[in-house]
Amino acid sequence: MGKRQHLKSAPCWLWLPRWAQGLRLVLCAAVLASPLARAAACGDQVRLTEPVPVSAEELAEFRAMAPLRVLSADAPPMARQDKATGGYSGIGVDVLCFIANRIGLRYEMLDGRGQSVTEKIQQVQDGDADAFMPLTDHSERVLRGVFTLPFYESHYAVIARKGWRPQAPIRGLADLAPYRVGVIKGVAFEPVLKRLVPAAQLTVYDDTSGERIFQALRNDRIDVAVYSKNVFSEKRYQHEYFDLEAIHTLDEAPRAYRFYFNASLNNQRVAAMFDRYLAVMDVSGAVAEHEDGERQFIERYAAERNRHLFVQAGGVAALLLALVLLVSLYRYRRLALLLAASNQHILQQQQALQAANHELEMLSQTDGLTGLANRRQFDHALQREHARRQRTGAPLSLLMVDLDHFKYVNDHYGHAIGDDYLRAVARVLKSSVTRATDLAARYGGEEFVCLLPETAPADAQMLAERIRQGVSAMALPNELASPQHLTLSIGVASLLSGQASAAQLLAQADEQLYAAKHAGRDRVHAVVLRE
Ligand code: GH3
Ligand code: MG
Ligand code: MG
Repeated sequence: MGKRQHLKSAPCWLWLPRWAQGLRLVLCAAVLASPLARAAACGDQVRLTEPVPVSAEELAEFRAMAPLRVLSADAPPMARQDKATGGYSGIGVDVLCFIANRIGLRYEMLDGRGQSVTEKIQQVQDGDADAFMPLTDHSERVLRGVFTLPFYESHYAVIARKGWRPQAPIRGLADLAPYRVGVIKGVAFEPVLKRLVPAAQLTVYDDTSGERIFQALRNDRIDVAVYSKNVFSEKRYQHEYFDLEAIHTLDEAPRAYRFYFNASLNNQRVAAMFDRYLAVMDVSGAVAEHEDGERQFIERYAAERNRHLFVQAGGVAALLLALVLLVSLYRYRRLALLLAASNQHILQQQQALQAANHELEMLSQTDGLTGLANRRQFDHALQREHARRQRTGAPLSLLMVDLDHFKYVNDHYGHAIGDDYLRAVARVLKSSVTRATDLAARYGGEEFVCLLPETAPADAQMLAERIRQGVSAMALPNELASPQHLTLSIGVASLLSGQASAAQLLAQADEQLYAAKHAGRDRVHAVVLRE
């Protein structure tokens, strides 16, 4: 027995390819508007030409019945099976649904995938199913079941490959005698064909879907097939058999498609009720709805083409985006590298500039020969420390140093030796003047100064004495000096209190130096300024 499946429309997203799941809501809306999906909305294309009276007892009786188990052939437009879900739609389904709703009869469509029509009919006859549709009647079937009135009528047609030419025009079954003919097993005029066509030329297909007989036609195993005209035209679109065509409609062989019921008492009651409806039923709406193979084919192709276009457009867009990103990334990286290099360059230049400035600053304040502070730096320091002394009142001392008989050194030992002496004296000054606030400077020529902030007069004189002895101790030859080596004289001025200016302090130190020279050189003379 077939797997049971209720008639319902399949969730529309099942029909969508995986990539389009995101768009499914939009596409579902479109699909739900399609005829296939609408057909599942029960029987709304069916109309009655006059009312069918049904008594309350009858209604109660049908309501109480177990659900009708219905099998169907895949024979559009009467019934089309959805390959994915196994559910059915079509004129027969509309009619069934319409009547069942009116009389309160429950029913279920059995999924007969993989079963032949013969097998399905057998199930109905055996009572494993209650009804089958669509089916044409003939005597053998009538004996073992109950047919309703027809709900759809069609004709047989002679189907051939496109371009196939018969030897003589075909106007009826009798004209098929010279050809290889295919027919579906069990159709009404199978016996007629068996009489008219030699057995060797007649192939009988026990084929429910029609696919095998159509394939035989296409493969040139038969010349013509005798097949239901409407089902052929629907399937031609469904399977895209566009190389086949109906070359003649057999008007003498009309086909009336009906419901076929199992002959049980219940089913006979149902079949009789179906007949009351079918007698006054107008199915033209349902026919228009379901005879739509061509439309479905076009819609399918349009959807497929749109899908391809969408995929292509998506692909191109993604490619472009990737390209833009790649170019942007490349440009960004390049710019970032350039920027980093340029930053590095600027930093290096800044550092070089700072070093140069520092160097320049140093040079502008340093004496080139001795490395001591120069006159310029000394002048600034003197102004600064004098101003500070004004605020703090701390003592400020100044040493003015002059080498004795230095002219002689230059004249007798040469200028280079004189320079060496100057450097040697500078080393003594540097090692003697050690406090961070003290400053030893070359004042000019062979004269030096020492600025000693916060240094009391006695301390300043002691420092001057230490310098004098330090230079003397080097014993650099100078024959003109009295101990016959290099000596120097120092004038010390200390500002202890009072308002003496920086220039006055300097002048006082100079005066003391002069006094020291005058007193015989190689000595320290000092003065303390208090006023
Ligand atoms: P006094 O004891 O009176 O000071 O005698 P003095 O010879 O030292 O006389 P004065 O101070 O006037 O001498 C200055 C000399 O110092 C003149 C110059 O030859 C020398 N001198 C000045 N600057 C430099 C220098 O940068 N290098 C050298 N080698 N000698 C210099
Ligand atoms: Mg001098
Ligand atoms: Mg001198």
